[in-house]
Amino acid sequence: MIAEVIVDIAHSDVDKIFDYVCGENVKAGMRVAVPFGRSTATGFVIRVKETSAYPAEKLRKIYRAEDDVPAINAECLSLAEKISARYRCPMALSLRLFLPAEMRKGQVSKNFREFARLSGELPAIDPRARAQLSCIAYLEEHGETALSELREKFSSAVNALIKKGALTVEKRRMMRVPYKSMEGEEEHHVLTPAQQAAVDTVRTTDRVVSLIHGVTGSGKTEIYLTLIAAALKEGKTAIFLVPEISLTPQMFSKLRARFGAEVAILHSGLSAGEKFDEWERLRLGEAKIAVGARSAVFAPIENIGCIVIDEEHDGSYSSESAPRYNTFDIAYLRAKYNRCKLVLGSATPAVETYRRAERGEFALITLPDRINARPMPKVNIVDMRREVRRGNATPFSSALREKLKACLDGGNQTILFLNRRGYAQTVMCRDCGNVVKCKSCDVALTYHSDEDCLKCHYCGAKYKPLPACPVCGGTHIHYMGTGTQRVVGELKKLFPAARILRMDVDTTSGKEGHYKILKQFADRKADILVGTQMVAKGHDFPFVTLVGILDADMSLHFPDYRSGERTFQLITQVAGRSGRAGAEGEVVLQTYDPENYILRFAADYDYRGFYRHEIGMREAMMYPPFVKVVRVMVTGEDDKETLAALRTVYEKLQKIYAAHEEDFLFFNRMHSPIKRIRDKFRYQVLMRMTENAPLREVYAAAEEKFKNVLVYVEENPSNLS
Ligand code: ADP
Ligand code: ZN
Repeated sequence: MIAEVIVDIAHSDVDKIFDYVCGENVKAGMRVAVPFGRSTATGFVIRVKETSAYPAEKLRKIYRAEDDVPAINAECLSLAEKISARYRCPMALSLRLFLPAEMRKGQVSKNFREFARLSGELPAIDPRARAQLSCIAYLEEHGETALSELREKFSSAVNALIKKGALTVEKRRMMRVPYKSMEGEEEHHVLTPAQQAAVDTVRTTDRVVSLIHGVTGSGKTEIYLTLIAAALKEGKTAIFLVPEISLTPQMFSKLRARFGAEVAILHSGLSAGEKFDEWERLRLGEAKIAVGARSAVFAPIENIGCIVIDEEHDGSYSSESAPRYNTFDIAYLRAKYNRCKLVLGSATPAVETYRRAERGEFALITLPDRINARPMPKVNIVDMRREVRRGNATPFSSALREKLKACLDGGNQTILFLNRRGYAQTVMCRDCGNVVKCKSCDVALTYHSDEDCLKCHYCGAKYKPLPACPVCGGTHIHYMGTGTQRVVGELKKLFPAARILRMDVDTTSGKEGHYKILKQFADRKADILVGTQMVAKGHDFPFVTLVGILDADMSLHFPDYRSGERTFQLITQVAGRSGRAGAEGEVVLQTYDPENYILRFAADYDYRGFYRHEIGMREAMMYPPFVKVVRVMVTGEDDKETLAALRTVYEKLQKIYAAHEEDFLFFNRMHSPIKRIRDKFRYQVLMRMTENAPLREVYAAAEEKFKNVLVYVEENPSNLS
């Protein structure tokens, strides 16, 4: 037999199929070790065939198969081909998406354990062999027992019994189970009529994709779980994607409670062994539901009955390394292949998604009300300019302080959100205006009070705080802006008795870092939770009745066409944490721009209003979804080399532009907004183009290889920095 093999080397020079002679045991989708040049390489078998077009004497033999069961199933093999064609990347790169990284690198091992039980017929045992007799008695009472445990109890008697054939030993694979501690209680709700109608629409519509636009707390999760349960009942499998599983442990315990071992979780926070075992449970069909962040869309399952993308608007669904795929596109291909439904859910759908639903491409399901008709929390917009005029220099308006006090007095909980971790956001010299920046990045440093250091939030570098300005020697160093640490400090001064938790990148390291904080808060061991975006994600804390948004305009002024949309989403999501059960909730939204229409729409929970305004503006200004923003990034450590590469790529692109000028609305090369990150200079060619523009040619132009410079293409990038 002949195997068509892609070697696992991500380079365009070897991105082709090589034929090898193989045995009957080799199947498509298996990883194999093959001779490659003068060394050995790992490869993926793409196809197995009878004959090769190459002369037999030129063909080399496969050394061995690395898997007994194909690692990649037929659907995923064809998907990998489509991804390579679509994003113009070597096949090796797209195939890698389908395997846990550690498995490729050979860093994982299967975990085995031996068990002993009594054999059918017992030989006669010398009555003086006490230990052997009690071992038999033990097994008669307890049944099968781990061999190691028996050895501990009965030492050498165990081996004697094995020798006599009295015990049968069996080696069995043990799967490592992540988050054992996270078992939840099963709660099974009877669907409300609105939830039932949503389930029915998804199942009966002739559209592949349904968008559930449901306000926060409208019970979307229960809809997903019902659809997943229905798929399982039909003997099928399911994929459930969430932005960041580690941020939503509640979701995970809900799934565990309802589906038990049929759920497998795939995410980067697991240990290599856990990840591998969860992946294997899916591949072997032991688990049927793949839950995880975007990479779980590549789960090794067959016969998919339902795919769910929760919080579909979330930026984490676009990949930031090659191939730069969009999770929706992959999920859509899988849904088509498996003839199953793809469900998107959000309280704040992406403008692009909503437009497709509005135009009838997707089924649109609207849930305008919370479960049990709970009211949406009232949003109070507070003008911070007035606070400043009144001499209030703290991060809290007087309205927020009053409401905080009332909330604490009432025994309820508060969430305070701000988009900046650390203590102060910039360190500036008052004498010359110099802002202290990272040596490797073109980014201002943030002061962290608990470690008494300056940190770069892009590369993680730490610096000693400066006694004097490095430029002018001045000593009037000013710490500007407010971060989570400073907020906690100020809160402690205002409310010494309050118990406060902080949740941001600095406090959530470790596998269960988020979980620990969220659990403490859920168990009401704290009164106030202060945090960054992390506190906005789908949490359901019934005793939170006050949410404070400390700097609502922070994200409004990013140089990005999506900044309005982002702000709307963030405010709606954070506000949605308030008043989800019990007492009515409230929100205080602090801003220096109280008339801003985005904030107004968010405060009124007027998604449609926001959408109409936003889509009108996008159309007038020609931004997505009316055009595509394409960015070709050119980055390298040497500024001159990088610039030279930019020039080469730009010239190629310019030819495309010249030939299709009518399809481009914008075309220019420039510095990226952040000129340097992690010692790499960053340049870009930014384009806005219509559907007719030759995107494939743009990819081809960016395929140019330079020695020390990286070039890549981004489509509608979720981050334009
Ligand atoms: P969303 O994901 O839309 O923000 P959730 O799914 O978290 O909303 O649901 C909000 C709350 O309503 C949760 O506490 C959930 O347990 C509860 N809930 C959901 N469905 C029902 C139902 N049919 N009956 C009663 N309570 C429900
Ligand atoms: Zn840095």
